[in-house]
Amino acid sequence: MRLRNVKNKEDILSSSRFLVQDPKKYIGNWNQYFSNNHPIYLEIGMGKGQFLIQSALQNPDINFIGIEKYDSVVAKALPKIPHELHNICIVRSDAHMIEEIFQHEIDHLYLNFSDPWPKNRHHDRRLSSPVFLKYYDSIFKNVKEIEMRTDNKDLFEYSLVSFSEYGYILKEVSLDFHSKEIPTVTSEYEDKFSKNGLPIYYVKCIKQ
Ligand code: SAH
Repeated sequence: MRLRNVKNKEDILSSSRFLVQDPKKYIGNWNQYFSNNHPIYLEIGMGKGQFLIQSALQNPDINFIGIEKYDSVVAKALPKIPHELHNICIVRSDAHMIEEIFQHEIDHLYLNFSDPWPKNRHHDRRLSSPVFLKYYDSIFKNVKEIEMRTDNKDLFEYSLVSFSEYGYILKEVSLDFHSKEIPTVTSEYEDKFSKNGLPIYYVKCIKQ
């Protein structure tokens, strides 16, 4: 997601208590950041934050962390977080740095409408590539649980194979996730694509 430069983005980033200024210092200790031992759910590429914020509002006993690589996108998300929330924060970082930020403390990972990187020579940049699955091994606490939603059939097919070959068991697969009912929490991209009548692909997979 590339946005036009957001005015005052430096002010927004430096003044919001929801942005973690020095995330590496919490490695292995994110429960201390939240001051509780609730499970920690992570969304990589949280964009403008709708999915993360709604999830945090609906699940007060789960802590939600969003990672996003662009300042302008983070600056759009931060002001939307309701002041009263204490179970959400945002880390501005590229997911390539994830092993330096988390260590055996994540319970669940969301990949919502990740960049597809269609060219074969860029497949290592896909968030479901073996490169990233290896990073995730060291951030998950016990059972590794990933949920992915996408509109992109090629990325979806690639991801199913990649998860399986890496030892994940596919627990739930849908080629039309909204066909039965619209989930209670959706992302911005999810709303846009489903409004345009496009199917949403969904997979939930687990590795012990
Ligand atoms: N999850 C949101 C946004 C999807 S667009 C939604 O479903 O509406 C994909 C987002 O992932 C973009 O905001 C992009 O900047 C971010 N992103 C892509 N690769 C990333 C990476 N390596 N690290 C962190 N964020 C990334």
